Amino acid sequence: MHIGVIGAGVVGVSSAYLLARAGHSVTLIDAEMAPGRGASAANAGQLSWAYGDAMASPALLRHLPAIVAHRDPAFHVRLRLDADFLRWGLRFLANAPARRWWKNTSAILQLAKESRQEMAMLLAEADLAFDYRVAGKLHLYPDASSLAAARPTVERKRQMGLDQRMLSRAEAEVVEPALRTYQGEIAGAVYTPDDALGDAAAFCRQLTDLMVRRSAVSTAFGRRVVGFEQHAGRLSTIRFADCEPLPVDAAVVTAGPLIRTLTSALPEARAIQPVAGYSLTVPWTQGAPRVSLTDVKRKLAFAAIGDRFRVAGLADIVAPGSGFAPDRFAILRETACAVLPDCFGQAEWALRWSGERPVTPASHPTIAPSRKIRGVYVNAGHGMLGWTLALGSARRLAEMLA
Ligand SMILES: Cc1cc2nc3c(=O)[nH]c(=O)nc-3n(C[C@H](O)[C@H](O)[C@H](O)COP(=O)(O)OP(=O)(O)OC[C@H]3O[C@@H](n4cnc5c(N)ncnc54)[C@H](O)[C@@H]3O)c2cc1C
Repeated sequence: MHIGVIGAGVVGVSSAYLLARAGHSVTLIDAEMAPGRGASAANAGQLSWAYGDAMASPALLRHLPAIVAHRDPAFHVRLRLDADFLRWGLRFLANAPARRWWKNTSAILQLAKESRQEMAMLLAEADLAFDYRVAGKLHLYPDASSLAAARPTVERKRQMGLDQRMLSRAEAEVVEPALRTYQGEIAGAVYTPDDALGDAAAFCRQLTDLMVRRSAVSTAFGRRVVGFEQHAGRLSTIRFADCEPLPVDAAVVTAGPLIRTLTSALPEARAIQPVAGYSLTVPWTQGAPRVSLTDVKRKLAFAAIGDRFRVAGLADIVAPGSGFAPDRFAILRETACAVLPDCFGQAEWALRWSGERPVTPASHPTIAPSRKIRGVYVNAGHGMLGWTLALGSARRLAEMLA
């Protein structure tokens, strides 16, 4: 079967890889001239096999008044009178109660487990240079009550076979000595030794190069998809903005947050809300953390990726395509400088980035045939964890197409 995979971010590249491995002929399509330029370009790099917590949660619900009143700089919500946004918001809130949250979180953890297996197989069969490393991860809790509130979830994850440990501040400092100079509050930490990281954009480039070298996949970059044509009730071609259509037997849409530009062709896209985030990358310097850190209070993730050190964070529910907001980036930089001044205070060069996470109300992706066009499949809405979930959802997609 000839399959057009639309989108060459982590999800599209992973989908192309597993579809080609299943014996399909694949064309990987992107509006950009190279893979890994969208939401996957400079994310926090975390392969959070044991995190998986759905965004809509009882804790977020309790925090909602502070978010709406702009009292927490980590969040920014611009309410809009837009039917899709209001529907998404109501469904998001309906997913926040504890039982729904755990159901969604368990589903994400299961998908992360499948991703982890696929990543292990991929690393065993191919030599890809994307700064992959099992760095371990420390979630830093600011006070005794937030640390105590984390314990039941850690216990549940341990029962699922995941290795997570509650640590005192002193124990966390043994795992990551750089915490001795950390300027934020730390009452204790949750440690996940098996969590890994890597450069998601480099992963996209390296895996695409490998597939092209093996003649497993052909690419069509610099081509923006604008819709689909059907023949006898099923997909026949993918239409582009400014070149000839591509005849295919099936199409997989992995367009990340930009899937919303295809809403007239795909009703599924309406259930995906972009949530913008920012990152700042500087050179890694001696004494900076090597273990990945999440500052739970400030909602910041720190990662040493190769010779770089990155902070990522903020969750802005704003109009799709709002782009880079300098005032929001300034908040990220100031907060990161306040807790790790030696890392971010005097960096010689810095990469400033913003991207949009494609978030569904339940926080797990839609991997399904399109309701509107036979032969079109959706693999989108990976939210906060697209890099973590990409290979697992690609495996499920390949199984579906088989
Ligand atoms: C600040 C931040 C930090 C994050 N940190 C992490 C993390 O640590 N770990 C983690 O697992 N996840 C993280 N994420 C989430 C993760 O980055 C995303 O979920 C993931 O990148 C989504 O991948 P994707 O392939 O679906 O989308 P993208 O990477 O956006 O790829 C979609 C591609 O589709 C192309 N496209 C779109 N529309 C069209 C069209 N019409 N025609 C042709 N091409 C099209 C785009 O050009 C783009 O290249 C983070 C996100 C942000 C913003």
